[in-house]
Amino acid sequence: MKSIIIAIDGWSSCGKSTMAKQMAKELNYLYVDSGAMYRAITLYFLRQSVDFDKPKEIEKALAEIELDFRYNETSGQADMYLNDENVEYMIRDLIVAEKVSEVAAIKEVREFAVAAQQKMGEKKGVIMDGRDIGTVVFPKAELKIFMTADNAVRVERRFKEMIAKNPNVTIEEVAENIQMRDYIDSNREHSPLRQAEDAIVIDNTNLTREQQLKKALDLAKQAMR
Ligand code: C5P
Repeated sequence: MKSIIIAIDGWSSCGKSTMAKQMAKELNYLYVDSGAMYRAITLYFLRQSVDFDKPKEIEKALAEIELDFRYNETSGQADMYLNDENVEYMIRDLIVAEKVSEVAAIKEVREFAVAAQQKMGEKKGVIMDGRDIGTVVFPKAELKIFMTADNAVRVERRFKEMIAKNPNVTIEEVAENIQMRDYIDSNREHSPLRQAEDAIVIDNTNLTREQQLKKALDLAKQAMR
């Protein structure tokens, strides 16, 4: 079996990272959550009050950022570190989610993140999920999956996830955030969310986690031959 790159793209909250993490475990591959990187950059920009319209300020801030993923023994997963600080929990907050698509649309931010992501894929054996992995980060990935699910199902799933952390969050806020991010992500100028021509679509609206995992693993095994 050859070592490959698996790119998983799709809309917000359609279960990409859940599936990617399960696949990585089964295949003993490295999982990279590219969205966490954009979220960590956004957190830094918010903390430093970076003006998103000032390229100089953006470049200065990016030069101060160091991102890395470190294994967490308790959760068995990798946590996002921003300049040596574990920000895994904080970057999932709605305050970050409300600004992340705006930050991810900035050319300099994308160049910074994409370069780091491509480096992580140099040795192959990687599963990365995001919005532009199969189109821009790894256009030659051996397997590209594009995930989708009905809007109502996506809102419900994300709401359940968020209310567990923040009991004040409403389903309307979550629905609005998903809709806004999908709009900005698919309409931005630089590497918008698109289905790669050679991507295989998985619509998981009516699939259990086990069913979707089986489908994806079958595709991975074919691609590894
Ligand atoms: O995947 P997640 O929902 O955590 O991503 C957060 C945001 O980061 C997305 O809404 C999108 O704006 C941005 N993103 C991106 N390109 C990626 C991954 C995420 O623009 N490859």
